[in-house]
This record gives sequence, C-alpha cells and structure tokens, in this order.
Amino acid sequence: MTIAPRDDFALMAGYHSPQVDVAVRLNTNEAPEPPPEGFGLALATELAELDWHRYPDRSYSALRGAIAAHHDVDPAQVFAANGSNEVLQTLCLAYGGPGRTVAVFEPTYALHSHIARITGTGVATGERTEDMALDLDEVRRVLAEAEPAITFLCSPNNPTGMLDDEATVREVLAMAPGLVVVDEAYGQFAPWSALELVDDDRPLVVTRTYSKTWSMAAARLGYLIGPRPLVAQLDEVVLPYHLDAMKQAAGRLALGFDAAMRARVAALVEERGRLAARLADLPVTVWPSAANFILFRPQELDGAVVWQALLDRSVLVRDCSSWPRLDGCLRVTIGTPAEDDAFLAALEDALR
Ligand code: PMP
Repeated sequence: MTIAPRDDFALMAGYHSPQVDVAVRLNTNEAPEPPPEGFGLALATELAELDWHRYPDRSYSALRGAIAAHHDVDPAQVFAANGSNEVLQTLCLAYGGPGRTVAVFEPTYALHSHIARITGTGVATGERTEDMALDLDEVRRVLAEAEPAITFLCSPNNPTGMLDDEATVREVLAMAPGLVVVDEAYGQFAPWSALELVDDDRPLVVTRTYSKTWSMAAARLGYLIGPRPLVAQLDEVVLPYHLDAMKQAAGRLALGFDAAMRARVAALVEERGRLAARLADLPVTVWPSAANFILFRPQELDGAVVWQALLDRSVLVRDCSSWPRLDGCLRVTIGTPAEDDAFLAALEDALR
C-alpha cells in the first residue's frame, strides 16, 4: 500500500549529506571534539536520579533559566526545542501556514524554505548578489511584493559563511512587514550578533543551537531569544512536554562549561584563519567566513570531481556543487588542526 504524501514535501534533491565512514568527517559543521569530560559525568549522575515515571517539566524552567542567564536576558524571552530546526518549525507553525509566506534569500540554509513548505507556508525567494552577499534592494523588492509573515536571515549564512552586519539587520527590520528571524546557528564564531537588538517592541527573534559550539549535535537542542509575547505564543503552539528530561538536564549542565567552550570557539576561529590562508594559495575561490566552515570552489576542476577525489582520500566535505547558485562549490567544516591538515593535503593532491 502506498499513500502519496502532500506534493509540497520534497526537499531539494541532494540536500542530505551522506554519513559515510571516513577518517576525516568535515561535512556537517559539527564541533570536532566531544564535550568536556566533566559534562558526561555530571549528566550521568543526574540521569541516575531522574524521575523516569513522571513527565518532564513542561516549561523546562531550569534549562530556560540557565539559557537566559547565559545571555543575560529574562527567561520569558527564551523558547527552546529539539534542535534549532524545531524552533524554526514552531515559528512557521505559529506565524506561517496556508495563505502566508516566508521570504528567503538564496543561496541560504535549505531548511528555511523546506520547513516553510512542510508547514503549508508559501516561499518567496530573493537572490543574493554574485558574490553571495545580501542585496538590500532585492530584499526591498521581495518584501514589498510578497509581504511575508516571516523574513529569514541567516548570519553567518550557511553555506556561504557570510555575516550580515548590524546596519543590514536594522534595515531589513525597518522594511519587513512581519517577523524577522536571524538564524545564528553559527553566531558564536562571528564578531557580531543580532542578539543585542532583541526587544519586546521589535518583531525580531535570534535562533541558536547546541549542535556546534556546545559539541552536542547528538542531543538535538536549540533555542531562540525573542520578545516575551512571542515566546508565550510559541509555548502554546509546541507539543506538550516536547523537551524530554534528559535533554533539559544536558542543556543546563552544558552551560556550566562556558569557559571551556569559549576557548574552543576561539581556537576554531583561529584555525579558520589558518585554513582560509592556506586555501588562498590554491587554485580555488574562497568566500570570507564568520562561521565554523568555509565555502570554496575549485577554479580548474569540477567540484563534484574534487569532492570524490577527497572522499577517495577518506576526507568527507559537503558537496554543494549541484545546488542552485552554488555551481561547483564545496563546503568544509573547520576540524582539529590534524583533520584540517589531512584535508589540505588531500585537496592539494586532488587539485594536482
Ligand atoms: N540553522 C542553520 C543555519 C544550520 O546550518 C543548522 C544546522 N545544519 C541548523 C539551523 C539546525 O541546527 P540544529 O542542529 O540545532 O537543528
């Protein structure tokens, strides 16, 4: 028996990244190292004492409080969910839906338009410039035409790594007829964050994830900081008890390792500089990155061919070469210095 799903479901072909067994995995922008050892021990202790027979704290107050303290905001400005993807989905469920539209500016994170579609929301697509920067004239055109309920920015943008500065975000806010979402999944790696613009009187939310900085992609935890009335609405929309007790504990405990994580972010930013400098000496075009990955395009060889050549050398990067507007491009996650050296050696070899 087959029942056809809704026809607005299909994710862009080739989006899913293959999880193949390789020595050096630099394809999904994860942290290169597991969380500090003390984290696992602290979590194990809490899990042993957990009230497994009871539903978890529905409003995840302790986690919420810890995230709020981390960002120096009020807990009522924090909404968390199973990965920032679920945060984005809850936003689309609350403010999108049939008859409403979101605006995206391509190339950008593919899940913005995908999540919009699976929630029945229309998608108005604007184009970035040739060098992949946000074009404010294009933003103005799309917002005036589509009057979107949600305008998605992604800063640093995946997969380009490029940052929207404060003036840009402020201009988009001034133009947008509805909510502006700044997806900062990579915000900790950037020199500026839109978090400082969040205010109860401004239709702006900033989303963050535990998947990168906090070395917790396995946990599936993300959150947003936004206006209090919006957070209260999201609490109504999301399923009851959506955050399990283990995750609430893990997310709260992780924030106790802030100093260690900041040091790791600083090391990754430095390593990003080293990798970018090395790439600049090779026959590839490189985009400036404020994230924990770098987008590049081999100048003389086909991107897909180079991707395969890297894989043959047990190095996995993201193959964006067939994605619209990213013809021939590959994206490499910043890893440990040893992983990055392995990548550079394989790339030099592949380009020869
Ligand atoms: N936003 C962006 C821009 C991302 O790149 C990612 C991860 N690929 C996400 C959101 C989703 O992160 P999470 O693991 O928190 O769902």
